[in-house]
Amino acid sequence: MIKVFDIFLIFLAIYIFSWGTIKHFKLWRIGKEDKRFDKMGARIKSFLVEGFAHRKILQDLYPGSLHLCIFLGFIIPFGVIFIAQFMFTLPVLMARLLSLSLDIIAILAIVSLLLTLYRRYVTRPSRLDNKPEDFKVLALILLIFLTGIFLESLRLSVIGKDTQTWAPVGKALATLINTAGWSAGTKSLLAKIIFRIHFFLVLCTIAYIPFSKLFHLISSPMNMIFRSLDPKGALSFMDLEDEKAESFGIAKIEEFTWKHLMDLDACTRCGRCQEFCPAHITEKPLSPKKIILDLKDHLHLRAPQILKAKSKNTEAEEVPPLIGNLIEKEALWACTTCRSCMEHCPVFIEHVDKIVDMRRYQVLMESKFPEELTTAFKGLETNSNPWGMGRDSRADWIKELDVPIISEASGEDIEYLFFVGCIRSYDDRNKKVTIAMVRILNHLGIKFAILGLEEGCCGDPARRLGNEYLYQILAQANIKTFNHYNIKRILTTCPHCYNTLQNEYPQLGFNCKVVHHAEFLQENIQNGRLKLEHSLAKRTTYHDPCYLGRYSGIYNPPREILQSIPSLDLREMRRSRIDSMCCGAGGGWMWMDEKIGKRINIQRLEDALATDPEWITTACPFCVTMFDDAIKDKNMEDDLKIWDLAELVEQALFGEKKKLPPATESNT
Ligand code: SF4
Ligand code: SF4
Repeated sequence: MIKVFDIFLIFLAIYIFSWGTIKHFKLWRIGKEDKRFDKMGARIKSFLVEGFAHRKILQDLYPGSLHLCIFLGFIIPFGVIFIAQFMFTLPVLMARLLSLSLDIIAILAIVSLLLTLYRRYVTRPSRLDNKPEDFKVLALILLIFLTGIFLESLRLSVIGKDTQTWAPVGKALATLINTAGWSAGTKSLLAKIIFRIHFFLVLCTIAYIPFSKLFHLISSPMNMIFRSLDPKGALSFMDLEDEKAESFGIAKIEEFTWKHLMDLDACTRCGRCQEFCPAHITEKPLSPKKIILDLKDHLHLRAPQILKAKSKNTEAEEVPPLIGNLIEKEALWACTTCRSCMEHCPVFIEHVDKIVDMRRYQVLMESKFPEELTTAFKGLETNSNPWGMGRDSRADWIKELDVPIISEASGEDIEYLFFVGCIRSYDDRNKKVTIAMVRILNHLGIKFAILGLEEGCCGDPARRLGNEYLYQILAQANIKTFNHYNIKRILTTCPHCYNTLQNEYPQLGFNCKVVHHAEFLQENIQNGRLKLEHSLAKRTTYHDPCYLGRYSGIYNPPREILQSIPSLDLREMRRSRIDSMCCGAGGGWMWMDEKIGKRINIQRLEDALATDPEWITTACPFCVTMFDDAIKDKNMEDDLKIWDLAELVEQALFGEKKKLPPATESNT
């Protein structure tokens, strides 16, 4: 009778679990189409490496290890039960190894759960918020482990010497139980009661999964499987000529794709995204975690209404748009698109894409954006640069220099098109970097050319600001020119141009090899063509630009370049490489005023100052400008200089003391 009742309970738990899980799947299905079923091999690999082996979760070692132990404590017993069910008698060695692994993992899981409770309720890192269900879930799992290990100890205590079982902890506890002097009958009765409790707790947990944060056991691995496998820096392509499109961008929850809705359910509220967000750190009203959780709450409220209306063949009642209601406008525009949230999120949630999609609606459908951007958009439209500076002055920096222009060099065998970019063309401080790069190219005898007045903005600022229409116009104009000159290889000193040309232009049909100057310089130093013989006895720290580091994975080449300069003392900042903090200029912030909180460039300068540097080095024109401004702000022009890698290579190569550009020279 008990067995029949047990089977009924098992089926009931599975039924509730399945019903709850399918409900989640239905919610995601209100979203739009998203092609995520390609490259299945890579997706399965992602599931194994990220889901099982916890690669990204372990990036944050302490909480990551705790999570891994609890996860294994969950998975391994299920595996063992499965093996035990399907193999009548296990070989002795296998039985011993299984009992040993169960013993160890149970203890590790219990210790990890206790430490997790301690971390959540005693040390309480600011990135964690506590809800009653957090405690319920942790307590439930802890009880399952405790009853499980107590049960095993009782069993060992009853059967006495068991050479089949290697369970040092279980046996030690069994010895302890034996000291109580209970009779075999009492122990058996106790074992039966504990087993019932254990069994009931396991079934309750299975049924509870879809209705609690434990659902991440399902949604997070799924999110890892269906994560974006496109280049990191490529925002989604928008077909502006799609006649069926009713609007562009996102204003309603159902306008996200099903994968973006799955993202919301995969969030574990770990807060890693928020901890590294430069906007959040400097007290702007943006938390990537809050955006995801607010959207999640809204999905769970709104999707049932949409599904109900659909089933009745009617339209769901209109609700106010997301922006300005659920998500503050200031939060939406505070994002610098630095990708820190995405690189730290252990379950591959795609924050930046959602933010840019919502910006797209604001710009393309509502013409609503921060006032300062009007000038930037106008400048891009009329003169193909965000300051609106004369197009005919784009190549003024080449005056008195021997720089080949492609229209005059056509027919010649060009190794590289040197794509200069807006800031390196117009900004006086950054022009020095461009000139340094030209001197290095000439020294190497590289056959290169620039587009001169035919070059236009790559479109990065317009795209990150949600102005997809303008981006596509700018990109198409450049692509037409590239095709006209049959360009096969591009060199650039700007990580934003690098990303856009390399990763986003293919969406418009242009493919070509793009090289960033950090890679180019490192390669030529390594192969001996660039000999850096002049020492620069200074202390410097290196700032990783977001679009070079997190977006493009180029962390080592800049450091190798600096380490190959004689006497240069390279110091690392606390937040470096993947943890590097944005300079504050990305996502269009180069052309907006930070009115709320601390300025990001000031915060980043303070990070650098903690290394006691004489110089700061970087590899991005945005970063050069932002540091230059921050240094001026702190009146530190005499003590601290900002350099680009190309300028240091130039100095170490030619051995001349370059005249430092006066801080006031910046003209953009
Ligand atoms: S991209 Fe950067 S600024 Fe934007 S939400 Fe993520 S961490 Fe914050
Ligand atoms: S979005 Fe990712 S990093 Fe942020 S709280 Fe959720 S799971 Fe954690």
